[in-house]
Amino acid sequence: MHESFIDRSRIAYFSMEIALRNDISTYSGGLGVLAGDTIRAAADLELPLVAVSLVSRKGYFRQQFDEGGRQVELADPWDPAQHATPLEAKVTVPIEGRDVWVGGWLYVLVGHMGGRQPVILLDTDLPENLGADRELTHYLYGGDAAYRFKQEIVLGIGGTRMLRALGYRVRQYHMNEGHSALLTLELLRRHAYAAENLRAGEQCYDIPRVRTLCNFTTHTPVEAGHDQFSYELVQRVLGDFIDIATLQSLAGADRLNMTHLALNLSEYVNGVAKRHAEVSRLMFPGYHVRSITNGVHPSWTSSGFAKLYDAHLPGWRCEPELLARADQIADAAIQDVHQQAKERLIERVRAACGVALQPHWPILGFARRMTAYKRPDLLFSDLDRLKAIARRQPFQIVLAGKAHPRDDEGKRLIQTLHAHMRELHDVIPIAFLPNYDLDTALTLVSGVDVWLNTPLCPLEASGTSGMKAAFNGVPSLSVLDGWWIEGCIEGVTGWAVGNCGASEDDAQSLYEKLENVVLPLYGGNGNERSGWIAVMKGAISKNAAYFNSHRMMRRYVAEAYMR
Ligand SMILES: *Cc1c(COP(=O)(O)O)cnc(C)c1O
Repeated sequence: MHESFIDRSRIAYFSMEIALRNDISTYSGGLGVLAGDTIRAAADLELPLVAVSLVSRKGYFRQQFDEGGRQVELADPWDPAQHATPLEAKVTVPIEGRDVWVGGWLYVLVGHMGGRQPVILLDTDLPENLGADRELTHYLYGGDAAYRFKQEIVLGIGGTRMLRALGYRVRQYHMNEGHSALLTLELLRRHAYAAENLRAGEQCYDIPRVRTLCNFTTHTPVEAGHDQFSYELVQRVLGDFIDIATLQSLAGADRLNMTHLALNLSEYVNGVAKRHAEVSRLMFPGYHVRSITNGVHPSWTSSGFAKLYDAHLPGWRCEPELLARADQIADAAIQDVHQQAKERLIERVRAACGVALQPHWPILGFARRMTAYKRPDLLFSDLDRLKAIARRQPFQIVLAGKAHPRDDEGKRLIQTLHAHMRELHDVIPIAFLPNYDLDTALTLVSGVDVWLNTPLCPLEASGTSGMKAAFNGVPSLSVLDGWWIEGCIEGVTGWAVGNCGASEDDAQSLYEKLENVVLPLYGGNGNERSGWIAVMKGAISKNAAYFNSHRMMRRYVAEAYMR
């Protein structure tokens, strides 16, 4: 079944999470969605990639809220047999002195242009394994440090061995974030010199050779966000798989830092936006961190806009640069297809939350992982001010987002948002859609009028949901961080909030922009909305035309894979 994929050498793209489709819960957020969009773009462009991830049979979690607005986490399992074919090979990885068997599944991602990409989903739930080992590929981001480290052994070491066992010839490895960096250790062992050929004191691993094979994309602009493991744990689990002194020289003296390991063994390293690369260079002095700004796949477009682009800009799906001409499409057509998407969102909110939104009032959308640095509560810093603005110029709000089950602060934020909603609801129609997933994301980014993003600078590496909004003619109102530093042309593609300063200043700036710029432009003079539609067109023609996965992948090919 791999015959059609192993006839040419491929780029092995490793990611802990990957968003393949809505009902396969192998992703938790932006990192997984980016991995999915990467493979979808590779399918359209017929690039020779093979993706490697974990099967995560028990998924991430399905989110509900109780009456108190607390997040309730339900299991979200999926059945790989319904979507994928069992692999014909099995390999082992060393864990705590045992050989743990790794099998898996072939999922074939078929792109919207008909291109096909293999995705290997590793699975340890095999009868050969002990009970606890069978659960290693069950839960995405579940368990303690030991569980995570073992998962990363399965992903990095198991994945590399599996590719070889299946007959894949790998020309380059690409690590999407540090989780898969243990693959470098497997490569060091493959490229080791025989001991008898070494002179005293000589390195036994061919590090320069491994570096030529590896590419690393970092996604996390805070040191604490990088996976780290104590060497006590590493040695207990991994034994003498790799010489410990060598490992310490590559991954950190005190703890095994997966980012440092990937940095030291990758010739090509990049951040996911220009600003993020700058921050990463300060965080990792001495490394050459390039930047390739993220992009999203054209399938993040509502059916109405997709038809409109098909009619006016044929070919846009594999050459999204053509959207640069979207400003030539008639205002009325843009307004019509947006209104259709808005009605779909309104219906979804009515069905899921019982909240009635007004079709002719602007909707602000905010949806992302609920975690402190994303500051979902910034909009609600001053409820009286928010109400006063809404009384003069009515608007409404739709929220969505999951908090990681162990992120107590994120979960508290969800509760706080529900409390704000109760306090505002008689002035501002407002709803919190449960279970933010791919479907919800498309409904939201296409159905709202303004996409809000208020992270704490400089913690948003890139952010991608605003790019999805741009494909749907939805401008962003966002803090200048991540991709928005590159994407914001004030009043043309959207609007900037604050100046990367204090939180109070950001909140002030947000209210001022909303009250004096965004809402008045939407209101226009009576029903005259050409100024607003010009910004919608700016979002499409300037931002969707650039911040797309096809431009991103062409750059990875030209700058990383072909170096
Ligand atoms: C796009 C997307 C994200 C990432 O959005 P950010 O703006 O980067 O936070 C997270 N979750 C889902 C379901 C998405 O579709």
